[in-house]
Amino acid sequence: MPVAGFCRLAWAKCRARVLNERIKESDLTMREPPQYFVSTKRRCPFFRCVAVFSVAFSLLISTVQVYAVPVSGTGLDALTVSEAEALRDDALTGTKAFQWVENLTTEVGPRLAGSEAEASARAWAVQALADFGFDRVWVESFPLPGWERGLETGYVVAPYPQPLTLTSLGGSVATPEEGVEGDLAIFTSLQALELAAPGSLEGKIAYVGHAMRSTQSGSHYGYFGRLRREGASIAASKGAKALLIRSIGTDSHRMPHTGSMTYDPEQPKIAAAALSNPDADQIERMAARGKVPRVKLLLTPRFLGEVTSGNVIADIRGSVAPEEVVIIGGHLDSWDLGTGAIDDGAGVGITMEVARRILSLNKRPRRTIRLILWGAEEVGLLGGKAYLESRKEHLQHHVIGTESDFGAGRIWQVTSRVSEQAQPVVDLISQLVEPLGIAPGPGDVASSGPDLTPMVSVGMPAFRFVQDGRDYFDLHHTPDDTLDKIASQDLDQSVAAYLVFAWLAANTEINDWGWLPVNN
Ligand SMILES: [Zn+2]
Repeated sequence: MPVAGFCRLAWAKCRARVLNERIKESDLTMREPPQYFVSTKRRCPFFRCVAVFSVAFSLLISTVQVYAVPVSGTGLDALTVSEAEALRDDALTGTKAFQWVENLTTEVGPRLAGSEAEASARAWAVQALADFGFDRVWVESFPLPGWERGLETGYVVAPYPQPLTLTSLGGSVATPEEGVEGDLAIFTSLQALELAAPGSLEGKIAYVGHAMRSTQSGSHYGYFGRLRREGASIAASKGAKALLIRSIGTDSHRMPHTGSMTYDPEQPKIAAAALSNPDADQIERMAARGKVPRVKLLLTPRFLGEVTSGNVIADIRGSVAPEEVVIIGGHLDSWDLGTGAIDDGAGVGITMEVARRILSLNKRPRRTIRLILWGAEEVGLLGGKAYLESRKEHLQHHVIGTESDFGAGRIWQVTSRVSEQAQPVVDLISQLVEPLGIAPGPGDVASSGPDLTPMVSVGMPAFRFVQDGRDYFDLHHTPDDTLDKIASQDLDQSVAAYLVFAWLAANTEINDWGWLPVNN
């Protein structure tokens, strides 16, 4: 570790011990350096002594930093690194991230892709970002097929008549006007359904359970989520007239989870809905008694023809290489059942606040920091696909990017896939976020969050802060996805981490982060 780095670390340790409280500012700006004061209460002479030593030490360090010592192999100087540390530390004293989520979820609420509410969210975001003082804020619109939910009811006809709590899957067709009624063909997994003989479900409604469990990384979602995404056409290929699934979720509340699905054009389109977990338990208990549950469903979603979504984009223009871009962001659309607080109001609020704090530094980064509030993520990453489509000529100007879209929990890990040259920068970011409780993770993970998946799939380098997802799928895509589930301090931890990422990635002289060869 270079001397300056060692000194900074030593100073940071002293400072943490002695300078116990910062002056809180309701609207922190970095135009004036953060101020500290030493509480005179409960301070023993020893601590005073340490404080005097620390102040002297800090003066020494600031002298060292004036010379902007490069941090070995990172393309960064010590001053930039200390700025990242200051941004990180200031964020931990309280940010406005929660306030942006509160504004969005209160003033707009649910924001289904392509809806008027999503358009209102774009207008809200454009206004808020213009107020922050971005150089440029604009919307890139794109078309998509519109869909809205309608009525959704269901009940057990026999053997134990009672109502069911369910919701249509996003993109499902309606049932016939009079509803659809049939005996359930019960499967414990999608794989079991796939093994059913063609024609064996004629006249029946397929029911599929599963064993999704809560994990820190959310690792079960991809595997079990396939049931929601593809189950209807698989059931239709066996002759089923509707599909009912156990919600892709991990809670035990009577909250069904929606989410997108698509149809195989080769198969008949059948209606598809998800039962809340307790309702799924109920169905399975009936079946365990050796009696075939008979169910009636009435779902009335509608297709609306072509509607419009859009990405809201705002740039903090780089001072040296403005054409080079570092992306941060979250997605603006949400499902319609809750108010989209954790998915993805949190990601929107976190990254808006990161950008606002960097703007208030009054110092431009080397390259452009681009905030993208993506549209229509939930219905197939359409914002991410539209962005890629419109940037094909300039893909490699995108140096690195990442999205916050895994709820409002604390970040616990960094993952990446970058070049050897950029690895020291990632290592430094990891080192600087370790005090936030974030562990270095694998360096071969090609993920920067959902909306950057189209870019990463054509070779863009990848970086991700992984949030604790243990309760994410309790709330995900349910009416329970509301603001009260968010702790503002947890958002602040994310803001601190993204500030470190954005400031270092946008200032390093290393611009080859390892684009893979593009296959055109
Ligand atoms: Zn999301």
